[in-house]
Amino acid sequence: MSQQTARQVSLERAEELKSRIAEYLKVQEDIQTGFKSADTIAAQKKIIMEVLGGTEANWDDWHWQMDNRITDVNVLANIINLSDDEYDVIKDIGQQYRWAISPYYASLMDPDDRSCPIRWLAVPSAFEYSERGELDPMAETTTSPAPAITRRYPDRLIIKVTNQCAMYCRHCQRRRAIGELDKHSTQEQLTQAVEYVRDNPEIRDVLITGGDAFMLEDETIEWLLKELNSIEHVEMVRLGTRTLVTLPQRVTPKLAEILSKYHPVYVNSHFNHPKEVTNEAAVACDRLSRAGVPLGNQAVLLNGINSSAHVMKKLNQELLRIRVRPYYMFHAKVVRGTLHFHPRVETGLEIMEQLRGFTSGMAIPTYIINAPGGLGKTPILPNYLVGWGSDHVMIRTWEGNVVKYPNFEGNVAQNIEVWDDDDED
Ligand SMILES: *Cc1c(COP(=O)(O)O)cnc(C)c1O
Repeated sequence: MSQQTARQVSLERAEELKSRIAEYLKVQEDIQTGFKSADTIAAQKKIIMEVLGGTEANWDDWHWQMDNRITDVNVLANIINLSDDEYDVIKDIGQQYRWAISPYYASLMDPDDRSCPIRWLAVPSAFEYSERGELDPMAETTTSPAPAITRRYPDRLIIKVTNQCAMYCRHCQRRRAIGELDKHSTQEQLTQAVEYVRDNPEIRDVLITGGDAFMLEDETIEWLLKELNSIEHVEMVRLGTRTLVTLPQRVTPKLAEILSKYHPVYVNSHFNHPKEVTNEAAVACDRLSRAGVPLGNQAVLLNGINSSAHVMKKLNQELLRIRVRPYYMFHAKVVRGTLHFHPRVETGLEIMEQLRGFTSGMAIPTYIINAPGGLGKTPILPNYLVGWGSDHVMIRTWEGNVVKYPNFEGNVAQNIEVWDDDDED
């Protein structure tokens, strides 16, 4: 092929690739993002500070944010516009399921638009009355060999340090544990959990979660990291927190410094919608990244919130901009009171299908269904391996081309029989 023809072929292919992204480029303009909404968020913040009687300094103080979480429908009604129906439902559902919204997260809500994804994630709705679904589908109560511990895997486990969160997600899988009161695990329970890790040398990876691990005070986090760090077989610690999304003020320079002393420390967060990726979240993530903490994201696939390939793609791209690597996309669990968010598996597969090839591999999480009964995370993938022969496999590319690929085992002692492309077609 002459150089000229090669260039001509490349140009035609480039045109074809442009056509593959045309639709997304059009649609993404209408997807709400935290960066694009910065002005509206700032305006809402002002209103909320007025309603709560807070100053800028208060706003940046995570304890103030926690003390002023919105838990009263009358306060909420001063921040966003509620219909009479919504007002009644929120007031009533509060008797059954707890709700609380940090002032910061409330500032991301659209005051007028009931379809705002942040409102759906934070504000109770009448769908929660449904009795369908279970309260503990993951059987967490029967996979706890020691206080505060959940163990489902050979070499790693979870320590649940609190039931508290900055905001109670309406899709929460642990709503049974949220109860009426915020409760940290006691010092006694934490000590026993650490002892369990110490006594079981196969545990090399410890996840500190909750609730939200960053609800603990700095001193407790440091104590726990120090203890785990002193156990020789513990090779790494992961902290699970949603504060990067719901309370970025929690990530103070001091907290970042504490984490940096006990590496390797990883932090996984839970962003579900590109509107949650704000300037404030970016500051918190930057602090952790600079402290040497790799950041990951565990999104939950939620019907009507992020259940389209375009929204999910935008979310994962926005996350990479703030140096958060998409890790998992969880299929929502069958938890009572959350079934309106439940997607079909086809939806998740379709999203995975429309990510691979179409955008950076780094923007593609692993899609997971959690097997009921605590049997473990199970990856779900579209089929890319579509056929087998004795010496080849058939693979399907991201654009849907089915191609033959040689399948053989090399042997350094023999001449490798080179598979001949041409006579097979
Ligand atoms: C999710 C989970 C883990 C961590 O799983 P990874 O796939 O390693 O991220 C560990 N223990 C329990 C009980 C879990 O639910």
